[in-house]
Amino acid sequence: MTSGFLPYGKQYINEDDIQAVVDVLKSDWLTTGPAVEAFEKALGDYVRAPHVVACANGTAALHLAAMALDLDENCAVIVPAITFLATASAPHINGAEIVFCDVDPETGLMTADSLQAAIDTHEGKPLKAVFPVHLAGQPCDMPAIQETARKYGLFVIEDACHALGARYHSGKGMEHFVGACDHSDLCVYSFHPVKNIATGEGGALTTTSPSIDQALRKLRSHAMTRSPEDWVNLDMAFDEDGTPNPWYYEIARPGLNYRLSDINAALGTSQLKRAAPMLERRHELVGLYKEALATLDAPIRFVPQREGTYSGLHLFSVLIDFSRLAKSRAKLMKQLHDAGIGTQVHYIPVPCQPYFRGLQQNLRIPSANLYYEQTLSLPLWPSMRDQDVFRVADCLANSLRSNL
Ligand SMILES: *Cc1c(COP(=O)(O)O)cnc(C)c1O
Repeated sequence: MTSGFLPYGKQYINEDDIQAVVDVLKSDWLTTGPAVEAFEKALGDYVRAPHVVACANGTAALHLAAMALDLDENCAVIVPAITFLATASAPHINGAEIVFCDVDPETGLMTADSLQAAIDTHEGKPLKAVFPVHLAGQPCDMPAIQETARKYGLFVIEDACHALGARYHSGKGMEHFVGACDHSDLCVYSFHPVKNIATGEGGALTTTSPSIDQALRKLRSHAMTRSPEDWVNLDMAFDEDGTPNPWYYEIARPGLNYRLSDINAALGTSQLKRAAPMLERRHELVGLYKEALATLDAPIRFVPQREGTYSGLHLFSVLIDFSRLAKSRAKLMKQLHDAGIGTQVHYIPVPCQPYFRGLQQNLRIPSANLYYEQTLSLPLWPSMRDQDVFRVADCLANSLRSNL
Protein backbone atom coordinates (compact mmCIF):
# COMPACT_ATOMS: atom_id res chain seq x y z
CA MET A 1 0.00 0.00 0.00
CA THR A 2 3.01 2.35 0.09
CA SER A 3 2.93 4.86 -2.72
CA GLY A 4 5.94 7.00 -1.96
CA PHE A 5 6.61 9.72 0.57
CA LEU A 6 4.24 12.70 0.48
CA PRO A 7 6.10 15.88 1.46
CA TYR A 8 4.11 18.90 2.70
CA GLY A 9 4.85 20.67 -0.59
CA LYS A 10 6.81 20.25 -3.79
CA GLN A 11 7.22 21.49 -7.36
CA TYR A 12 5.35 20.23 -10.41
CA ILE A 13 7.63 20.16 -13.46
CA ASN A 14 6.49 18.96 -16.89
CA GLU A 15 8.15 18.44 -20.30
CA ASP A 16 7.34 22.00 -21.44
CA ASP A 17 9.21 23.36 -18.40
CA ILE A 18 12.22 21.19 -19.21
CA GLN A 19 12.19 22.28 -22.85
CA ALA A 20 12.00 25.96 -21.85
CA VAL A 21 15.14 25.58 -19.76
CA VAL A 22 16.95 23.64 -22.50
CA ASP A 23 16.08 26.40 -24.98
CA VAL A 24 17.76 29.00 -22.78
CA LEU A 25 20.82 26.82 -22.32
CA LYS A 26 21.17 26.70 -26.11
CA SER A 27 20.74 30.48 -26.43
CA ASP A 28 23.27 33.32 -26.10
CA TRP A 29 22.00 34.53 -22.75
CA LEU A 30 22.20 32.70 -19.43
CA THR A 31 21.66 35.90 -17.47
CA THR A 32 20.51 39.52 -18.09
CA GLY A 33 18.87 38.29 -21.30
CA PRO A 34 15.37 38.35 -22.77
CA ALA A 35 14.01 35.48 -20.63
CA VAL A 36 14.05 37.67 -17.53
CA GLU A 37 12.00 40.39 -19.23
CA ALA A 38 9.58 37.80 -20.60
CA PHE A 39 9.11 36.40 -17.09
CA GLU A 40 8.48 39.86 -15.64
CA LYS A 41 5.89 40.53 -18.34
CA ALA A 42 4.14 37.18 -17.79
CA LEU A 43 4.06 37.65 -14.01
CA GLY A 44 2.70 41.19 -14.41
CA ASP A 45 -0.07 39.85 -16.66
CA TYR A 46 -0.95 37.11 -14.18
CA VAL A 47 -1.14 39.31 -11.06
CA ARG A 48 -2.26 42.50 -12.90
CA ALA A 49 0.85 44.45 -11.89
CA PRO A 50 2.18 47.29 -14.07
CA HIS A 51 5.79 46.93 -12.87
CA VAL A 52 7.58 43.68 -12.01
CA VAL A 53 11.22 43.26 -10.97
CA ALA A 54 12.46 39.68 -10.87
CA CYS A 55 15.27 38.83 -8.45
CA ALA A 56 17.31 36.04 -6.91
CA ASN A 57 14.80 34.83 -4.29
CA GLY A 58 12.06 36.01 -1.94
CA THR A 59 14.51 37.03 0.76
CA ALA A 60 16.41 39.17 -1.75
CA ALA A 61 13.07 40.71 -2.78
CA LEU A 62 12.36 41.68 0.83
CA HIS A 63 15.87 43.08 1.19
CA LEU A 64 15.51 45.06 -2.05
CA ALA A 65 12.20 46.45 -0.77
CA ALA A 66 13.90 47.58 2.43
CA MET A 67 16.76 49.19 0.48
CA ALA A 68 14.48 50.93 -2.04
CA LEU A 69 12.28 52.43 0.68
CA ASP A 70 15.21 53.28 2.99
CA LEU A 71 13.98 51.11 5.83
CA ASP A 72 17.23 51.62 7.70
CA GLU A 73 18.66 52.28 11.18
CA ASN A 74 16.59 55.45 11.51
CA CYS A 75 13.27 53.63 11.64
CA ALA A 76 11.22 50.69 12.85
CA VAL A 77 8.96 48.41 10.80
CA ILE A 78 6.05 46.17 11.81
CA VAL A 79 6.10 42.46 10.96
CA PRO A 80 3.56 39.82 12.05
CA ALA A 81 4.87 37.35 14.65
CA ILE A 82 3.72 34.40 12.51
CA THR A 83 5.78 34.39 9.32
CA PHE A 84 8.96 33.01 7.82
CA LEU A 85 12.20 34.43 9.27
CA ALA A 86 13.00 36.43 6.14
CA THR A 87 10.10 38.89 6.56
CA ALA A 88 11.84 40.15 9.70
CA SER A 89 15.48 39.41 8.91
CA ALA A 90 15.62 41.20 5.55
CA PRO A 91 14.54 44.69 6.70
CA HIS A 92 16.54 44.18 9.91
CA ILE A 93 19.72 43.43 7.92
CA ASN A 94 19.12 46.81 6.26
CA GLY A 95 19.15 48.39 9.72
CA ALA A 96 15.46 48.67 10.59
CA GLU A 97 14.23 47.87 14.08
CA ILE A 98 11.61 45.10 13.98
CA VAL A 99 8.36 45.50 15.91
CA PHE A 100 6.42 42.25 16.06
CA CYS A 101 2.68 42.44 15.80
CA ASP A 102 0.15 39.87 17.06
CA VAL A 103 -2.11 38.02 14.61
CA ASP A 104 -5.64 36.64 14.46
CA PRO A 105 -5.60 33.37 16.48
CA GLU A 106 -7.65 31.43 13.89
CA THR A 107 -6.12 32.64 10.61
CA GLY A 108 -2.63 33.63 11.77
CA LEU A 109 -3.04 36.85 9.78
CA MET A 110 -2.14 40.39 10.74
CA THR A 111 -5.34 42.44 11.09
CA ALA A 112 -5.96 46.20 11.14
CA ASP A 113 -6.65 45.84 14.87
CA SER A 114 -3.47 43.92 15.65
CA LEU A 115 -1.54 46.46 13.56
CA GLN A 116 -3.15 49.33 15.48
CA ALA A 117 -2.25 47.67 18.79
CA ALA A 118 1.39 47.33 17.70
CA ILE A 119 1.45 51.00 16.69
CA ASP A 120 -0.17 52.07 19.99
CA THR A 121 2.29 50.20 22.19
CA HIS A 122 5.43 51.00 20.19
CA GLU A 123 8.07 53.16 21.82
CA GLY A 124 11.33 53.79 20.06
CA LYS A 125 12.39 54.70 16.57
CA PRO A 126 9.74 56.20 14.26
CA LEU A 127 7.66 53.62 12.42
CA LYS A 128 8.06 53.66 8.65
CA ALA A 129 6.59 50.47 7.15
CA VAL A 130 4.39 47.45 7.72
CA PHE A 131 4.78 43.98 6.17
CA PRO A 132 1.43 42.12 6.09
CA VAL A 133 1.93 38.42 5.25
CA HIS A 134 -0.74 36.49 3.34
CA LEU A 135 -0.19 33.38 5.44
CA ALA A 136 -0.89 30.08 3.64
CA GLY A 137 -2.08 32.17 0.71
CA GLN A 138 -5.08 33.76 2.40
CA PRO A 139 -5.16 37.51 1.70
CA CYS A 140 -5.05 39.82 4.71
CA ASP A 141 -7.68 42.56 4.92
CA MET A 142 -5.62 44.91 2.77
CA PRO A 143 -8.06 47.84 2.52
CA ALA A 144 -8.27 48.04 6.34
CA ILE A 145 -4.53 47.55 6.84
CA GLN A 146 -3.77 50.22 4.25
CA GLU A 147 -6.18 52.65 5.91
CA THR A 148 -4.43 52.21 9.27
CA ALA A 149 -0.98 52.42 7.66
CA ARG A 150 -1.96 55.64 5.87
CA LYS A 151 -2.93 57.34 9.13
CA TYR A 152 0.64 56.93 10.33
CA GLY A 153 2.36 57.46 6.98
CA LEU A 154 3.65 53.88 6.78
CA PHE A 155 4.74 52.13 3.60
CA VAL A 156 2.90 48.84 3.02
CA ILE A 157 4.92 45.90 1.69
CA GLU A 158 2.91 42.71 1.14
CA ASP A 159 4.76 39.45 1.70
CA ALA A 160 2.85 37.42 -0.90
CA CYS A 161 5.30 34.52 -1.02
CA HIS A 162 2.34 32.21 -0.25
CA ALA A 163 -0.24 34.05 -2.29
CA LEU A 164 0.51 33.85 -6.02
CA GLY A 165 -2.88 34.01 -7.76
CA ALA A 166 -4.82 35.13 -4.67
CA ARG A 167 -7.64 37.68 -4.93
CA TYR A 168 -9.94 39.59 -2.60
CA HIS A 169 -12.90 41.93 -2.73
CA SER A 170 -12.89 45.39 -1.21
CA GLY A 171 -15.91 47.03 0.43
CA LYS A 172 -16.73 48.71 -2.87
CA GLY A 173 -17.47 45.28 -4.36
CA MET A 174 -14.37 45.43 -6.51
CA GLU A 175 -12.09 42.48 -7.04
CA HIS A 176 -8.38 42.98 -6.43
CA PHE A 177 -5.47 40.75 -7.33
CA VAL A 178 -2.74 40.28 -4.75
CA GLY A 179 0.29 41.65 -6.59
CA ALA A 180 -1.62 44.50 -8.27
CA CYS A 181 -0.69 46.65 -5.24
CA ASP A 182 -4.13 48.29 -5.07
CA HIS A 183 -3.61 48.66 -1.30
CA SER A 184 0.17 48.62 -0.95
CA ASP A 185 3.41 50.10 -2.22
CA LEU A 186 5.12 46.81 -2.96
CA CYS A 187 4.35 43.13 -3.11
CA VAL A 188 6.96 40.40 -2.72
CA TYR A 189 7.02 36.86 -4.18
CA SER A 190 9.17 33.74 -3.84
CA PHE A 191 9.46 30.95 -6.41
CA HIS A 192 11.19 28.41 -4.19
CA PRO A 193 10.09 24.89 -5.27
CA VAL A 194 7.56 24.50 -2.44
CA LYS A 195 5.79 27.74 -3.42
CA ASN A 196 3.01 27.93 -6.03
CA ILE A 197 5.37 28.11 -9.01
CA ALA A 198 9.03 27.11 -9.03
CA THR A 199 12.06 28.73 -10.65
CA GLY A 200 14.61 26.79 -8.57
CA GLU A 201 15.50 29.84 -6.53
CA GLY A 202 13.73 33.03 -7.50
CA GLY A 203 11.69 35.99 -6.38
CA ALA A 204 10.02 39.15 -7.62
CA LEU A 205 8.60 42.48 -6.53
CA THR A 206 5.57 44.19 -8.01
CA THR A 207 4.59 47.85 -7.72
CA THR A 208 2.48 50.55 -9.35
CA SER A 209 5.20 53.17 -8.82
CA PRO A 210 7.58 53.83 -11.75
CA SER A 211 10.14 55.42 -9.40
CA ILE A 212 10.18 52.43 -7.02
CA ASP A 213 10.46 50.14 -10.06
CA GLN A 214 13.50 52.09 -11.29
CA ALA A 215 15.12 52.08 -7.85
CA LEU A 216 14.66 48.31 -7.55
CA ARG A 217 16.16 47.64 -10.98
CA LYS A 218 19.25 49.60 -10.07
CA LEU A 219 19.60 47.99 -6.63
CA ARG A 220 19.19 44.51 -8.12
CA SER A 221 22.40 45.02 -10.07
CA HIS A 222 24.98 46.64 -7.77
CA ALA A 223 23.06 49.96 -7.68
CA MET A 224 25.01 50.84 -10.85
CA THR A 225 23.77 53.50 -13.22
CA ARG A 226 24.78 53.91 -16.86
CA SER A 227 22.38 56.85 -17.32
CA PRO A 228 24.42 60.06 -17.94
CA GLU A 229 21.79 62.21 -16.21
CA ASP A 230 22.55 60.39 -12.92
CA TRP A 231 26.31 60.87 -13.05
CA VAL A 232 28.22 63.07 -10.63
CA ASN A 233 31.92 62.66 -11.57
CA LEU A 234 31.55 64.75 -14.72
CA ASP A 235 35.31 64.89 -15.46
CA MET A 236 35.50 61.08 -15.63
CA ALA A 237 32.10 60.53 -17.23
CA PHE A 238 32.39 62.57 -20.41
CA ASP A 239 35.06 63.11 -23.07
CA GLU A 240 36.29 66.48 -24.42
CA ASP A 241 33.25 67.12 -26.59
CA GLY A 242 30.87 66.26 -23.76
CA THR A 243 29.75 62.84 -24.96
CA PRO A 244 29.35 60.09 -22.35
CA ASN A 245 32.31 57.71 -22.14
CA PRO A 246 31.15 54.27 -23.36
CA TRP A 247 32.63 52.32 -20.43
CA TYR A 248 31.46 54.66 -17.73
CA TYR A 249 29.14 53.80 -14.82
CA GLU A 250 28.61 55.08 -11.30
CA ILE A 251 27.12 54.09 -7.99
CA ALA A 252 25.61 56.53 -5.51
CA ARG A 253 25.36 53.81 -2.84
CA PRO A 254 26.57 50.23 -2.48
CA GLY A 255 24.39 47.52 -3.99
CA LEU A 256 24.35 43.74 -4.45
CA ASN A 257 23.87 41.22 -7.21
CA TYR A 258 20.30 40.01 -6.70
CA ARG A 259 19.56 39.17 -10.34
CA LEU A 260 17.56 36.18 -11.51
CA SER A 261 19.23 34.12 -14.26
CA ASP A 262 17.56 33.52 -17.62
CA ILE A 263 17.60 29.79 -16.85
CA ASN A 264 15.45 30.33 -13.77
CA ALA A 265 13.29 32.93 -15.51
CA ALA A 266 12.47 30.60 -18.43
CA LEU A 267 11.34 27.93 -16.00
CA GLY A 268 9.18 30.55 -14.28
CA THR A 269 7.50 31.70 -17.50
CA SER A 270 6.71 28.12 -18.44
CA GLN A 271 5.31 27.44 -14.95
CA LEU A 272 3.21 30.61 -15.03
CA LYS A 273 1.31 29.27 -18.05
CA ARG A 274 -0.11 26.61 -15.71
CA ALA A 275 -0.31 28.73 -12.55
CA ALA A 276 -4.10 29.17 -12.69
CA PRO A 277 -5.01 25.49 -13.23
CA MET A 278 -2.39 24.43 -10.66
CA LEU A 279 -4.02 26.78 -8.14
CA GLU A 280 -7.47 25.43 -9.00
CA ARG A 281 -6.14 21.93 -8.32
CA ARG A 282 -4.91 23.08 -4.90
CA HIS A 283 -8.45 24.29 -4.16
CA GLU A 284 -9.92 21.00 -5.37
CA LEU A 285 -7.54 18.99 -3.17
CA VAL A 286 -8.43 21.09 -0.13
CA GLY A 287 -12.11 20.45 -0.88
CA LEU A 288 -11.39 16.72 -0.82
CA TYR A 289 -9.44 17.05 2.43
CA LYS A 290 -12.30 18.89 4.10
CA GLU A 291 -14.86 16.30 3.06
CA ALA A 292 -12.68 13.37 4.08
CA LEU A 293 -11.67 14.82 7.44
CA ALA A 294 -15.26 15.81 8.27
CA THR A 295 -16.48 12.27 7.44
CA LEU A 296 -13.74 10.77 9.62
CA ASP A 297 -14.81 13.03 12.47
CA ALA A 298 -11.21 14.01 13.20
CA PRO A 299 -10.64 16.55 16.03
CA ILE A 300 -9.46 19.16 13.57
CA ARG A 301 -10.62 22.67 12.73
CA PHE A 302 -10.14 24.34 9.38
CA VAL A 303 -8.74 27.83 9.18
CA PRO A 304 -11.69 30.11 8.47
CA GLN A 305 -11.47 31.73 5.04
CA ARG A 306 -12.14 35.45 4.97
CA GLU A 307 -15.28 36.34 3.02
CA GLY A 308 -14.75 37.48 -0.55
CA THR A 309 -11.25 36.04 -0.84
CA TYR A 310 -9.73 33.43 -3.15
CA SER A 311 -6.67 32.01 -1.44
CA GLY A 312 -3.28 31.37 -3.03
CA LEU A 313 -3.35 28.16 -0.98
CA HIS A 314 0.38 27.69 -0.75
CA LEU A 315 -0.27 25.64 2.38
CA PHE A 316 -3.08 23.55 3.79
CA SER A 317 -2.68 24.29 7.48
CA VAL A 318 -5.25 22.91 9.92
CA LEU A 319 -5.80 23.68 13.60
CA ILE A 320 -5.56 20.90 16.18
CA ASP A 321 -6.05 21.64 19.88
CA PHE A 322 -3.26 19.42 21.19
CA SER A 323 -3.85 20.69 24.74
CA ARG A 324 -7.07 18.62 24.76
CA LEU A 325 -5.54 15.54 23.16
CA ALA A 326 -3.45 12.79 24.72
CA LYS A 327 -1.00 13.12 21.84
CA SER A 328 1.63 15.81 21.30
CA ARG A 329 2.21 17.44 17.93
CA ALA A 330 5.72 16.01 17.81
CA LYS A 331 4.38 12.47 18.34
CA LEU A 332 1.73 12.94 15.67
CA MET A 333 4.26 14.30 13.17
CA LYS A 334 6.61 11.36 13.82
CA GLN A 335 3.82 8.84 13.35
CA LEU A 336 2.73 10.49 10.11
CA HIS A 337 6.32 10.61 8.92
CA ASP A 338 6.68 6.87 9.60
CA ALA A 339 3.54 6.38 7.50
CA GLY A 340 5.19 8.27 4.63
CA ILE A 341 3.48 11.61 5.23
CA GLY A 342 5.38 14.86 5.61
CA THR A 343 3.91 17.65 7.72
CA GLN A 344 5.34 20.96 8.90
CA VAL A 345 4.65 23.78 11.33
CA HIS A 346 4.26 27.23 9.78
CA TYR A 347 5.65 28.98 11.77
CA ILE A 348 7.53 29.24 15.04
CA PRO A 349 6.75 32.87 16.04
CA VAL A 350 9.77 34.83 14.82
CA PRO A 351 10.11 36.88 18.06
CA CYS A 352 10.76 33.58 19.90
CA GLN A 353 14.03 33.21 17.97
CA PRO A 354 17.02 33.75 20.27
CA TYR A 355 18.25 36.73 18.24
CA PHE A 356 14.95 38.62 18.30
CA ARG A 357 13.85 37.51 21.77
CA GLY A 358 15.84 40.09 23.66
CA LEU A 359 15.22 42.98 21.28
CA GLN A 360 11.61 43.94 21.90
CA GLN A 361 10.40 45.17 25.27
CA ASN A 362 6.82 44.41 26.40
CA LEU A 363 6.18 41.94 23.58
CA ARG A 364 2.64 40.58 23.75
CA ILE A 365 1.67 37.98 21.15
CA PRO A 366 -0.88 35.69 22.89
CA SER A 367 -2.83 34.98 19.70
CA ALA A 368 0.30 34.20 17.69
CA ASN A 369 1.29 31.72 20.39
CA LEU A 370 -2.16 30.15 20.33
CA TYR A 371 -2.01 29.79 16.54
CA TYR A 372 1.49 28.34 16.72
CA GLU A 373 0.47 25.73 19.29
CA GLN A 374 -2.37 24.44 17.09
CA THR A 375 -1.17 24.70 13.50
CA LEU A 376 -0.07 21.81 11.31
CA SER A 377 0.46 21.90 7.53
CA LEU A 378 -0.60 18.78 5.61
CA PRO A 379 0.71 17.74 2.17
CA LEU A 380 -0.57 19.96 -0.64
CA TRP A 381 0.84 20.29 -4.15
CA PRO A 382 -0.81 20.34 -7.55
CA SER A 383 0.28 16.89 -8.78
CA MET A 384 -1.10 15.15 -5.67
CA ARG A 385 -3.67 12.52 -6.52
CA ASP A 386 -7.11 12.27 -4.91
CA GLN A 387 -6.09 8.99 -3.31
CA ASP A 388 -3.06 10.70 -1.69
CA VAL A 389 -5.47 13.04 0.10
CA PHE A 390 -7.58 10.15 1.32
CA ARG A 391 -4.47 8.35 2.57
CA VAL A 392 -3.32 11.42 4.53
CA ALA A 393 -6.81 11.97 5.98
CA ASP A 394 -7.06 8.30 7.07
CA CYS A 395 -3.64 8.23 8.68
CA LEU A 396 -4.21 11.54 10.42
CA ALA A 397 -7.61 10.54 11.78
CA ASN A 398 -6.30 7.13 12.94
CA SER A 399 -3.29 8.62 14.63
CA LEU A 400 -5.37 11.28 16.39
CA ARG A 401 -7.82 8.64 17.62
CA SER A 402 -5.19 6.22 18.91
CA ASN A 403 -3.53 6.63 22.29
CA LEU A 404 -0.35 4.96 21.12
C1 LIG B 1 9.52 31.47 1.22
C2 LIG B 1 9.22 32.71 1.97
C3 LIG B 1 10.12 33.79 2.00
C4 LIG B 1 11.49 33.73 1.43
O1 LIG B 1 11.56 33.34 0.11
P1 LIG B 1 12.90 32.61 -0.44
O2 LIG B 1 12.67 32.58 -1.90
O3 LIG B 1 12.94 31.26 0.18
O4 LIG B 1 14.06 33.45 -0.06
C5 LIG B 1 9.71 34.95 2.65
N1 LIG B 1 8.52 35.03 3.26
C6 LIG B 1 7.65 34.01 3.27
C7 LIG B 1 6.33 34.18 3.96
C8 LIG B 1 7.99 32.81 2.65
O5 LIG B 1 7.14 31.78 2.70
